[in-house]
Amino acid sequence: MLDEFVSLPCVAYFSMEIALRNEIPTYAGGLGVLAGDTLRSAADLRLPLVGVTLVSRAGYFRQEIGADGQQIEREATWDPSRWAQPLDAKVAVRIEDRPVWVNAWLYVIESRLGGRAPVLLLDTDLPENRAEDRDITHHLYGGDDAYRLKQEMVLGFGGVRILRALGFEISAYHMNEGHSALLGVELMRRFAYPADDVRPGEALYDLPRVRDLCRFTTHTPVEAGHDRFPYELVKRLFASSVYGYNNHEVPRAGEPGMEHGPIEFGTLTELAGADSLNMTRLALSVSDFVNGVAKRHAEVSAKMYPGYQVRAITNGVHPITWSAQSFRELYDRWIPGWCHEPELLARVHGIADADILAAHTKAKDALIAKVQARTGTALDPQAAILCFARRMTAYKRPEMLFTDIERLKAIARQHPLQIVLAGKAHPHDEEGKRLIARLHAHARELAGSVAVAYLPEHDLDLALLLVSGADVWLNTPLPPLEASGTSGMKAAFNGVPSLSVLDGWWVEGCIEGVTGWAASDAESLYEKLERIVLPLYYETADGRHGWARLMKSVIGTNAAYFNSQRMMRRYATEAYLR
Ligand SMILES: *Cc1c(COP(=O)(O)O)cnc(C)c1O
Repeated sequence: MLDEFVSLPCVAYFSMEIALRNEIPTYAGGLGVLAGDTLRSAADLRLPLVGVTLVSRAGYFRQEIGADGQQIEREATWDPSRWAQPLDAKVAVRIEDRPVWVNAWLYVIESRLGGRAPVLLLDTDLPENRAEDRDITHHLYGGDDAYRLKQEMVLGFGGVRILRALGFEISAYHMNEGHSALLGVELMRRFAYPADDVRPGEALYDLPRVRDLCRFTTHTPVEAGHDRFPYELVKRLFASSVYGYNNHEVPRAGEPGMEHGPIEFGTLTELAGADSLNMTRLALSVSDFVNGVAKRHAEVSAKMYPGYQVRAITNGVHPITWSAQSFRELYDRWIPGWCHEPELLARVHGIADADILAAHTKAKDALIAKVQARTGTALDPQAAILCFARRMTAYKRPEMLFTDIERLKAIARQHPLQIVLAGKAHPHDEEGKRLIARLHAHARELAGSVAVAYLPEHDLDLALLLVSGADVWLNTPLPPLEASGTSGMKAAFNGVPSLSVLDGWWVEGCIEGVTGWAASDAESLYEKLERIVLPLYYETADGRHGWARLMKSVIGTNAAYFNSQRMMRRYATEAYLR
């Protein structure tokens, strides 16, 4: 089953979440969607990557919205046997000094261009494990600190071991965010110098060799966002797989999960921080190549981690996945090869205005039908739709558009305006949930003036409907907290311009009036809507030529660049082949 994948050395791509397909709810938002796009592009380009993640049988959660706008979280359990094949390798990870057995499911990403990429879904739900250990790989981002650290032990330690057990030869380990940084500790143990050869004061481990193998992509522009674990907890869960802080008996190397012996505590604190085990620090320490996900983000990260070189590889989105069917058909007809080489989309200017507008109308009709079906709200196909859809959390500032309700009403009296919203709040993010409720309150205040619909359950399918059916894509994060943002790139594949705060990818993507518009606060947002965006949208004198030209420049400038084919060619040449 694995023969086709293990015959060549490959890059192991580790991510806590990966959005594989709509039916598999193993992602929470942008990070997981990016991981999925990364692997989809690897399959398209026939780059040898193997994805490694947790099976997350209980998923993230399915979102319903109550009558008052409160988020209701439902189980999102899925059955791996429906989509993936069980593999027969089994490895142990020592947690609290007992072996926790881990096996893996194989999910294969099939590219429409013919390539295939394997993804390993790690699973501890095995009869040989205790009930509490069987649960470790169930809930994505659920549970407390101890639960999270156990998951990261399974991902980092278990992932490296299972790759080896399955016969993969790994030329590089790529950590998508710090959750998988314990893989560095596993490699340190593998590359420990034989104890008899080490003289006092000499290195115990071959760190340069580990660093040579590891690449780290950071996604979090603030220290507070980094995963960190108190060493008390680390000591309890690692137990005798770490030594040097007390002198209880160390299991002999060779017991299940202890094939490489323990790691020395002092080394761990040198790599991961003296006060707590900081997964970002650990990932930085063990990686020879570190990058941020946009130029601005790399600069911010470099300031946060003096002494480390942080490069920039700006994110991109997967071409076919994020183009509505009407646009795929249009590109297939006019720009053959666009999926493999999206740079060709620069030739979009040869497509007739009417064809571009017609493709958009189809996508917009599909969104309007969805809004009607899910919420009962009837939107007007002739009126502009503004969309805001992403994880609901404070720094994304979803309320900025609703800062001045009277002003918004006044704008809509001049130029009709409709708003579609979507997004989940993390179950522990109380402010995120309050934001969802307040957005519903704003929708009620605007009733009769501006139609506002909130679509529950923001998943991959809904995201495509939104990014293609919107007329204008809105994003209002608090700088510098948006590391990249990717939904505006998805909109670009469908010719939808962004109206966005200059942060993350938009610093690179915004050409005022050509790919969209920049706003800095609520006032400038209203200004631009009223004076520039909506007047252009409603300008019909020459058959909406102005808007069609804008749509084409969005595609030809931004979809041609902010795509995951370009991103993966850069990872391949700059990060993997070193
Ligand atoms: C793309 C995507 C996101 C991320 O959007 P941002 O613009 O990066 O906030 C979140 N959720 C889903 C379902 C997505 O498809």
